[in-house]
Amino acid sequence: MESNNYNDPSVIGGCSVPVRVNRKSKPDPTVVDLRGIRIGSSDIVIIAGPCAVENNEQLSETVKAVKTAGAAMLRGGAFKPRSSPYNFQGLGEEGVRMMRDISRESGLPFVTEVMDTRQVGFVAEYADMLQIGSRNMHNYPLLKEVGMLRKPVLLKRGMMATIEEFLLSAEYILSQGNDQVVLCERGIRTFEPTTRNTLDLSAVPMLKHLSHLPVIVDPSHGTGHRWMVPAMAKAAVAAGCDGLIIEVHYKPEEALCDGHQSLSPEEFSKLMTDLGKVAHAVGREILLPQPSVL
Ligand code: PEP
Ligand code: MN
Repeated sequence: MESNNYNDPSVIGGCSVPVRVNRKSKPDPTVVDLRGIRIGSSDIVIIAGPCAVENNEQLSETVKAVKTAGAAMLRGGAFKPRSSPYNFQGLGEEGVRMMRDISRESGLPFVTEVMDTRQVGFVAEYADMLQIGSRNMHNYPLLKEVGMLRKPVLLKRGMMATIEEFLLSAEYILSQGNDQVVLCERGIRTFEPTTRNTLDLSAVPMLKHLSHLPVIVDPSHGTGHRWMVPAMAKAAVAAGCDGLIIEVHYKPEEALCDGHQSLSPEEFSKLMTDLGKVAHAVGREILLPQPSVL
């Protein structure tokens, strides 16, 4: 029989929330700390950078732009999960080293993706946070491997995963002893063809209701259209997310990957200003970079 207690976070629809990620087992929100950048506290963390690391000029110009606009953290893929084997696959280990170098130079921590258990040791040595992409949310050996680290993990929702399946994947990581997990809503596959994915913003309050883990939103993969990113980024902040991960490229029209959904430096800078106003309206702030990096 269903409980009448609507405040019970583990009784909702048919969703059964696993124990370690469940808000009932830990009422206080989890805060994930990356060299002083705290995800899951009152301030909203903006992670920005290219879809993929391409070359030194692209990376340094893009990082310069996102840092100037006020991003607190960097993103940049080196191991890229591409739908076609003939598309640019990323720079691999060299790309991870380039991210580490630009991260040191800029003072901004970074996240980059791991696709395979064999990459975890290497990437964990360099990156501040490891990303498990949408296509690997169901890769249980990989989840267990990053669960054995004591390092933050950004877990993206599988494009066809329910909230329960998403939380079960997070539980895999926590069950191995790593509780530094950030959940990322990045859109799900629906019948709608006009957008790359359908960005499920209702996942934000739902995940925050069910779990103590921080929740961020990816409006770039969530829409697939550069012109839609600002609207959905602002909506995500209004919906209560703890951060955003946004693709930015210094020349989006020349990007080797996802240029159509990457913001230009000017667009990103304007968005940062607007996000500050939305955050303020809902009683929060956009986290400014650490004073030491300015
Ligand atoms: C990415 O963030 O680079 C990416 C590939 O996203 P997703 O796994 O959400 O498709
Ligand atoms: Mn991308």
